[in-house]
Amino acid sequence: MSLTPSTSSAPYELHGRTALVTGAAAGIGRATALLLARAGAAVHCADRDTAGLAETVDLVTGEGGKAHAHPLDVTDRAALRAAVAAATADGGTLDIAAAIAGIMHTSSVAETREEDLDRILAVNFKGVLHTCQEAVAAMTASGTPGSIVTMASGAVDAAQPGLLCYSAAKAAVVQLTKTLATEAGPLGIRVNAVAPGWIRTPMTSRHDPRTQAQTEAAMVRMSPLRRVGEAEDVARTVLFLASDASSFMTGQVLRPNGGVAMPW
Ligand code: NAD
Repeated sequence: MSLTPSTSSAPYELHGRTALVTGAAAGIGRATALLLARAGAAVHCADRDTAGLAETVDLVTGEGGKAHAHPLDVTDRAALRAAVAAATADGGTLDIAAAIAGIMHTSSVAETREEDLDRILAVNFKGVLHTCQEAVAAMTASGTPGSIVTMASGAVDAAQPGLLCYSAAKAAVVQLTKTLATEAGPLGIRVNAVAPGWIRTPMTSRHDPRTQAQTEAAMVRMSPLRRVGEAEDVARTVLFLASDASSFMTGQVLRPNGGVAMPW
C-alpha cells in the first residue's frame, strides 16, 4: 500500500476518484458536489431531501459530470454504510468523503431542551462521526490514501447567545477531525475540517427578508472583502482539502469567512 497520494501537475484534478458528499441537496453540500464533479470526481450525493438530491444530480449530469443519489438520513449509520458500499461496488475505491449535512438550532441555555440537544448532536456530530467511520473503513479496506473533509463552523471560535447546542456539536466535529487525523494518518488518510463564517445558503435564508437584508448588509460592512460568503466559496475550500493540492495537510481547520470572525 502506498502512503503517498498520486500526484499530478494539476493538483485539483480528481478524474478517476470517487467522492461521497452528505448534505448534497442544497447549499454548501450541493455546491461541493458540483465542484468536485467539475474537477472530475464521480460524486455520490447523500441527503434526506430526496427532491433536492434529484436536482443536484440533474445539475451535475447536465454539466456532463457523474453523480448518483443516495436518499438517506445521516443519523442512520446502516444507510451510510449502504451508500459507501454502492459507491465502491465493482471494486471501486472511496477517495473522498465530505461530511457536510447539518442543521441549525438556536435556544438560550436556560431554554435548551434535552430533545433539542439530542437532535442536534445526532445530526451535526454523530452524522459526521458515522460518515467518517464508514469512509475510513472503506478507505482502509481498499488501501486508499483518501481525504475526509468535515464541516464545522466559525461558531467554534467564539460564544454567541443561543448557539450552545450548535457550537457544542461543531466543536465536537473539530475534535473528531483532529483525533481521526492522528489515527488514520498512518494509513495515508487525511482528515481536515472547514469552519465557514456566515454563508448565504437556504440555512441562513429562512428568515424574514428584512432581517435577512440587515444581516447581509452587516456582513458586507464587516468583511474586508465587502461581500457575503456564497456556498461556492466554501466548496472551493472543500475541493482544496479533498484534492492533492493539500497533500501534506491533516488535522487542520480552514476558515472561509471573508475575514470576519465570530462573534459578530
Ligand atoms: P442547508 O440547510 O442549506 O443545507 C443542509 C443540507 O443538509 C440540506 O440539504 C439538508 O436536507 C441536509 N440535511 C440536514 N439534516 C440532514 C440529515 N439528518 N440527514 C441527511 N441530510 C441532512 O445548510 P448549509 O448552509 O449549506 O450548511 C451546510 C453545512 O455547513 C452544515 O453542516 C452547516 O452547519 C455548516 N455551516 C453553514 C454556515 C452558513 O452560514 N450557511 C456556516 C458555518 C457552517
